[in-house]
Amino acid sequence: MEQTLLNGTLHYLGCDGRHADTATLSLARQAIGTMTALADFRCCEISLSDLGHTPDFVLKPAYATIAGFVAEASLFAATLGIRVDRKIKSLGTVDMSAAVAANAAANAILDARVEAALTDGQVLFCPGYSGTDMSDVRHVLQLLDAQRRLGIFTSDSGMMIPEKSVAGLLLKGYRFSCRGCLIASKCEHLRRGLTCYGRQD
Ligand code: SF4
Repeated sequence: MEQTLLNGTLHYLGCDGRHADTATLSLARQAIGTMTALADFRCCEISLSDLGHTPDFVLKPAYATIAGFVAEASLFAATLGIRVDRKIKSLGTVDMSAAVAANAAANAILDARVEAALTDGQVLFCPGYSGTDMSDVRHVLQLLDAQRRLGIFTSDSGMMIPEKSVAGLLLKGYRFSCRGCLIASKCEHLRRGLTCYGRQD
């Protein structure tokens, strides 16, 4: 887990273990320690079968690429809690390098904790992937009652608070791909050699 967090943090800092200098490695390790101590990981999920219906937003054309996986899907949300956000913000007022490293470490910790929470070949498909509307995250949070259960709510701009939170659909056996994506021809991620889902297919 320690190496996974270090690799993840370095990835979010835009470098990898082979090229990171001693100072960067030290900064990353310190940030991981600080953020791990503050993180209060919590998550919740509900299967669509228990929910009793398929949410309307999942029926939009942009979700066609996951249509075959919806029957067994669950809604899922997770957060590291508000203390992580506050620490990143407070570091930003005194030490920008530490704040950037803390932000990267928090992202890596959230990724690792979510990955550990997944079972049976599940992947987390978040609104915003594959040309879907990022604002659909509101529906996921509402259906999960995530504000009451996890303390996650959305700002007027649609951003999740705490910021180190994720929400989406757990899909069994789904493989991320750009095939069939409605916005592939104008995708900014692909233009930069990246993908919206963080890995190339
Ligand atoms: S990276 Fe691929 S799946 Fe994601 S928006 Fe771009 S084309 Fe679509």
